[in-house]
Amino acid sequence: MCRLTGPVKLRFAPSPTGYLHVGGARTAIFNLLHARRHGGTMLLRIEDTDVERSRQHHAEQIVSSLKWLGVEWDEGPIYQSDRLDRYRERANKLVEHGLAYRCYCTVEELDADRAASEGTGKSYRYSGRCRAKADAGAAQPEGEPHVIRFKVEEGAIDFHDLIRGDVHFDAKEIDDFVLIRSDRYPTYHLSVVVDDIDMEITHVARGDDHLSNTPKHILLFRAFNCEPPVFAHLPLILGADKKRLSKRSGATSAEEYRDLGIVPEALFNFLMLLGWSPGGDRELITPDEAAAIFDLSDVHKAPAVFDDEKLLWMNGQYLMRMAADQIYPHLVPFLGDHVKPLDEIRAVIDINKSRGRTLKDVAAQMIPYLADDDALVYEEEAVKKHIKGDDLPQRMKDLRETLAGVGSFDVLATEQALRQLAEAKGLGAGKYIHPLRVALLGVASSPPIFDVAAILGKERTLRRLDALIARL
Ligand code: GLU
Repeated sequence: MCRLTGPVKLRFAPSPTGYLHVGGARTAIFNLLHARRHGGTMLLRIEDTDVERSRQHHAEQIVSSLKWLGVEWDEGPIYQSDRLDRYRERANKLVEHGLAYRCYCTVEELDADRAASEGTGKSYRYSGRCRAKADAGAAQPEGEPHVIRFKVEEGAIDFHDLIRGDVHFDAKEIDDFVLIRSDRYPTYHLSVVVDDIDMEITHVARGDDHLSNTPKHILLFRAFNCEPPVFAHLPLILGADKKRLSKRSGATSAEEYRDLGIVPEALFNFLMLLGWSPGGDRELITPDEAAAIFDLSDVHKAPAVFDDEKLLWMNGQYLMRMAADQIYPHLVPFLGDHVKPLDEIRAVIDINKSRGRTLKDVAAQMIPYLADDDALVYEEEAVKKHIKGDDLPQRMKDLRETLAGVGSFDVLATEQALRQLAEAKGLGAGKYIHPLRVALLGVASSPPIFDVAAILGKERTLRRLDALIARL
């Protein structure tokens, strides 16, 4: 009997039939955290034996999404398509030992059996025709197309799932399933078990939708005389409509969230909490902190609900706490043509990073700072509210002159100069501050305007004031 005595080892095993779904991303994260918690490792395995549906570009996309998200595996990616001979060899071994058999039934024969079973009230089962022949030691037709089927023997299949508890199946419910298809490709059941054995996987954490496959896998582990790994079937993720998360309810891939302006740190944190909690009311937790306390056995059984509002809130919390240097690389794609080297815009990021819940929002706030001084677009609202009064041109000229006279152009000095001017003219400071905000950013609300002026610097502040004066 082969036993798993080595260190804890988990695997994330996506099929490259599409992008990285957020459910898959959560599975990857839970695998990673359990491995880290127990001083183990994680393997990335690309399950691409379904040639009809697998695509190399999907595999590459999944790998790059995982990297973006910060899921760091230790081994792989291993492609199952590189191991086809191994699966065939193992299936042949089972045939040699009488634990599997070659089935030569044609599609027509199987269709006829299926049609005959309809209306009998029983679900279709393979007739066992070829199994009976194999058991009788009948000669097998050389070279004829065939599949290899596993011989399911009667008996109980019990296992303890870390999340679901004790699970019971009866082999009666299981048909003689196919291991090698007629095109000689292995089925998922065969390749997954051969790999989990060869790669010494100790824990299998995967979506709930695989629960009904697990008894088949356990039978295969037994047939290979190996102890099965520990299983943990993760609960479903539901959309806000309480139905299985799907395109209907919004974005479903890690990439879509990236493109909406979610930072990977926030998505990672958010996904960790879909079915797991660090305890108390705690919601913000880093991967390292989680890895110190996470255990698959603490994952909840009940489905988790994907709440977009909460993700946006969490993203805002991350943006607020992250340094400009950390935000910058994620922000670049959202700045488009306005992008500038980090050193030139660090202060612009800092002053705006808590003014939006997504990178998209923050970038939109930043654009007026980065625009050319004479190409600033004024918002209609802002103009209506603040660009008025017969004395406005005079007010702005006075303000320009005053600011031009400020030596060290910092927050304090500019504020003091403006307030002195207002007092000298017997006007409220707002009469200068509001139009100044329109001149500098084209908007009606912004961070404290003297901070904005300090960030733009004297030259650009004056140029922007000139541009406003020229338009009056
Ligand atoms: N390749 C399977 C999937 O993408 C996962 C298999 C497994 O984790 O056992 O659904």
